[in-house]
Amino acid sequence: MRILLVEDEPDLGRAIQRALTREKYIVDWVQDGSEAWNYLDNGWATYTVAVFDWLLPGLSGIELCQRLRQQQNSLPVLMLTARDRLEDKVAGLDAGADDYLVKPFGMIELLARLRALQRRSPQTYSPFLQVGRLTLDYATLTVSVQQSSQAQIIQLTAKEFQLLEYFMKHPQQIVNRDQLMNALWEVQAEPISNVVSAQIRLLRRKLADYNCDDMIETVYGLGYRFNLS
Ligand code: CA
Repeated sequence: MRILLVEDEPDLGRAIQRALTREKYIVDWVQDGSEAWNYLDNGWATYTVAVFDWLLPGLSGIELCQRLRQQQNSLPVLMLTARDRLEDKVAGLDAGADDYLVKPFGMIELLARLRALQRRSPQTYSPFLQVGRLTLDYATLTVSVQQSSQAQIIQLTAKEFQLLEYFMKHPQQIVNRDQLMNALWEVQAEPISNVVSAQIRLLRRKLADYNCDDMIETVYGLGYRFNLS
């Protein structure tokens, strides 16, 4: 679950980024509309949902929506704005926004609206991801493993959860460090050379508690492969 957040107010942007990260989203936060368009147009990442502020330097949130829809891109968009006049709301929806949130708002409401947008988006949303003995539940953001006849929840950090989700979506494929880096770390993340292998080590350790440590295999010189067991 990756989100593009475009908000030019630093305090609000930081607060939203923090709240979303806690909910296990990977968050690319930019403060300028033109820069946001680069992210979308260059296809640097595949987003689950986007949050655009209305008034932004560069391109406005409305212009970003219009450009997306002109390209037949149906990425779900939530617009943020201080305006609450009816005609503004209509203009936002006409431009292709899927929902609308008036500032100031509570983070709980923002998160609920984003979950609702994801549920309404048939091509991106399915409530569960089941691979082998593992089941990922998007409503509770948990992964459980079937052991004998019981399902046990694996306690994961946000990054471990994202990593395991990625592997579950690419079973039995060799994925390399760059693919994982691009998919799971923010575009602006500092390139720390061993961050991927460090996270994989942590995830393996968690999986080992459930006798699943052999699921992530190191393929020498190529990357990693997620095996079903
Ligand atoms: Ca603004």
